[in-house]
Amino acid sequence: MKPFSQMTDAELTAMKADLTQQFEEVKGEGLSLDMSRGKPSKAQLDLSMGMMDVLNSESDYISEDGVDCRNYGGVYGIQEARQLMADLAEVPDKNILIYGNSSLNIMFDTVARGMSVGIMGNTPWGKLDEVKFLCPVPGYDRHFGVTEFFGITMVNVPMLPTGPDMDIVEKLISEDPSIKGIWCVPKYSNPTGISYSDETVRRFARLKPAAPDFRIYWDNAYTVHHLYYEDGYDTILELVEECAKAGNPDLVFKFVSTSKISFPGSGIAALAASEANIKDAENYLKSQTICFDKVNQLRHARYFKDMDGIQAHMKKHADIIRPKFQKVDDVLEKELGGAEIGTWSHPKGGYFISFEALPGCAKAIVAKAKEAGVVMTPAGATYPYGKDPEDSNIRIAPTFPTVEELERACDIFVLSVKLVSIAKILSDRKAG
Ligand code: PMP
Repeated sequence: MKPFSQMTDAELTAMKADLTQQFEEVKGEGLSLDMSRGKPSKAQLDLSMGMMDVLNSESDYISEDGVDCRNYGGVYGIQEARQLMADLAEVPDKNILIYGNSSLNIMFDTVARGMSVGIMGNTPWGKLDEVKFLCPVPGYDRHFGVTEFFGITMVNVPMLPTGPDMDIVEKLISEDPSIKGIWCVPKYSNPTGISYSDETVRRFARLKPAAPDFRIYWDNAYTVHHLYYEDGYDTILELVEECAKAGNPDLVFKFVSTSKISFPGSGIAALAASEANIKDAENYLKSQTICFDKVNQLRHARYFKDMDGIQAHMKKHADIIRPKFQKVDDVLEKELGGAEIGTWSHPKGGYFISFEALPGCAKAIVAKAKEAGVVMTPAGATYPYGKDPEDSNIRIAPTFPTVEELERACDIFVLSVKLVSIAKILSDRKAG
């Protein structure tokens, strides 16, 4: 396809009339399609139903370390679940603390700890005039939601193909003691799909923050969520160990969960960090709960057994969602290839495709798609305060719909992209 910018006004206007007609036709179908949230589909949830059969009224509910999982006790998690989550987080079990069903909840709880009692004996952030977090952008909206909730000032840092721009990160955190954290999704990042390079991870481990309670909030949500196995999948350096090697053992809080391995909302989540950090977190946790759901921990440990079990299971997820990612890519390539009105990511794992529209078009595209019944993540959501300075990033979440629904939704999406881009090009020409 010819670049839209090289078409004459007359060509664009004619194309617009044709596309508008197509758009009105699909609009008339009254569709309702959702490409907004990174949720597994029903077929993916069905993969884990065997977990419901590993425990029944006849089962032995005693954990390997002798805890009766039906009763109170064992706030740190049962041994077999600790081992499983330690393996998932790629740390020794002394560096793991199991929480409840959600890693986002641990992140919120950790920031709340910083605000209320302080991290490892440091001044509670609530007593400081200003607290800042660095936010690589585009990023995960719910991370930004946590820091916004606590009134923490968020500072954008650009993402590069290797991860966050480390020149900027190093400079800012070494100069400004009010910067207490940075949000990171190091593998198959939400939404860009980028995995941080070894050099980026090493630079993180070697950071010299001005604040003693600065931590890297390392959300490894997609650690085993590969789309491709044969062609090679992404691996990243393990940061807890890298920090220890660099003489910065306490620099990182790493978060993992089984949300998109078993059942989102009914999985298990854990914090991985240095022993000193784990002890600090435990102290705060002990006043919150007598223990988490050990029956669910036991179910997960007995069902998956070990990392081989998890990896085999993740291959089945990949087989279900890979065709969906490919479908989105196919439609975008077929309909937008060469038009130069958008670029998009080609992730090798994770849950998202990140689309960059012409500047100033993202909000209008999402609104247009909605007119025809396609719900996308709100434009701007991938930036702190919902403000994308370029108004260009759109997150596509292909996992939940069926392949057929997805194809329909993508057709509507590309129609919306074309219509909004033509309007923008024509109005820019008029203004220029
Ligand atoms: N982190 C990232 C980067 C995510 O994309 C998600 C889910 N969309 C979560 C955390 C939420 O994880 P959990 O269910 O463990 O709270």
